[in-house]
Amino acid sequence: MQLEINPELAEVRSALRKFTQEQLEPLALEIDRIGEIPASAWALMREAGYLGMQLPETYGGGGFDMSTYCLALEEFSRSSRVFTMLLDYTSGLAPLAIARHGTPQQKDCYLPKLATGEFRAAFGLTEPGAGSDSAAIATNAKKTDKGWVINGRKHYISGGNSAEVILVIALTDKEKRARGGISAFLVEKGTPGFEVTRTDTTIGSDAIKLGELTFEDCHVPDSALLGQPGDGFKIAMGSLTSGRLGVACACIGAADRMLEMAVQHARDRQTFGKPLAERQAIQWMLADSATEIKLARALVYETLRRVEAGEDIGTAASMCKLYCSEMVGRVADRSVQIHGGMALMRGFNLERFYRDIRHYRIGEGTSEVHRMLISRDLLKA
Ligand SMILES: Cc1cc2nc3c(=O)[nH]c(=O)nc-3n(C[C@H](O)[C@H](O)[C@H](O)COP(=O)(O)OP(=O)(O)OC[C@H]3O[C@@H](n4cnc5c(N)ncnc54)[C@H](O)[C@@H]3O)c2cc1C
Repeated sequence: MQLEINPELAEVRSALRKFTQEQLEPLALEIDRIGEIPASAWALMREAGYLGMQLPETYGGGGFDMSTYCLALEEFSRSSRVFTMLLDYTSGLAPLAIARHGTPQQKDCYLPKLATGEFRAAFGLTEPGAGSDSAAIATNAKKTDKGWVINGRKHYISGGNSAEVILVIALTDKEKRARGGISAFLVEKGTPGFEVTRTDTTIGSDAIKLGELTFEDCHVPDSALLGQPGDGFKIAMGSLTSGRLGVACACIGAADRMLEMAVQHARDRQTFGKPLAERQAIQWMLADSATEIKLARALVYETLRRVEAGEDIGTAASMCKLYCSEMVGRVADRSVQIHGGMALMRGFNLERFYRDIRHYRIGEGTSEVHRMLISRDLLKA
């Protein structure tokens, strides 16, 4: 895939850039200040046709492939991580799992609503006792005559505090666990026995909220099962592999923007009678950031090309997520250093980026977990 020269994608990128700069960017600082996603942001995204981008056109989605979706994440991330979450809630981890594994009835029920943003979906895997070791989940679902009964607790679920539907990953066979003993369920808001018991925010934007979700004898019908019993771990990992490429692209977009800010500031700011841009100490920081962003793009775009070719990209997705999430941290730190004190002032764009990007090294698999996965692949017999 040649993102830079493929005319079709280049056109999509330029439309996305224009939309982001003109429509979304003016809202970014205010969203950070109020800690909420205003209805106007949802309306803009809906009208521009960016909600449900990755969902099939037959269900009202955009029908875009993963490369285009990742490009959108990169562009939206140049303004704010919050805008990438609007895509995630309507077209990311959980919506994609429904599109890939749903029955015709499940697709009819959820996809058209996700495509318009009427419904948002959250991805419920992590638990207090199972983060990196996701196969250690304790939330369980037991078969009954009429369906399933779910018990357990999930936490740190992005958008889980308000989502209309949650993809809940639950244990259905303790002995088998990740090898066929975990299943996936679609649980709707308001289902008796399901409650949002806490809402968390992070050091990043308060507009991105995380839900603690408690299930106490929560009865769901057979039609809530996504895929076959025992498919849940595979379904979750499949979504996460795609999601990791999305995270990598969001990291690239944010890094690119922060480098732009640093270049501009280096040109504008004079110290000791000269612009910062004329100091080698500053030039080297800019050069290192530019080189790392270029390298990140090459790695991710190559992996997206392999997705298009239908190749297995599990390990490559881990490499992309690992490299890009660590790269954006280094770029953010250099950009802050180049700005000096002003970078840390509330209400300044860079300060907001600096807080928002820290989560990328933790969510969707920590750096350590991805190093483990990559080395496991290297060392396998
Ligand atoms: C902002 C945010 C949004 C999130 N959204 C979601 C969501 O939508 N859905 C969802 O299901 N989850 C979500 N999560 C949860 C996220 O996936 C977990 O936080 C992550 O997997 C790490 O789990 P943990 O926090 O329990 O850390 P732990 O697993 O307790 O790890 C703690 C530290 O130990 C390290 N570590 C763990 N095991 C090993 C090992 N074997 N070797 C070396 N080091 C190790 C980790 O890398 C980490 O540094 C979100 C988290 C955040 C912060």
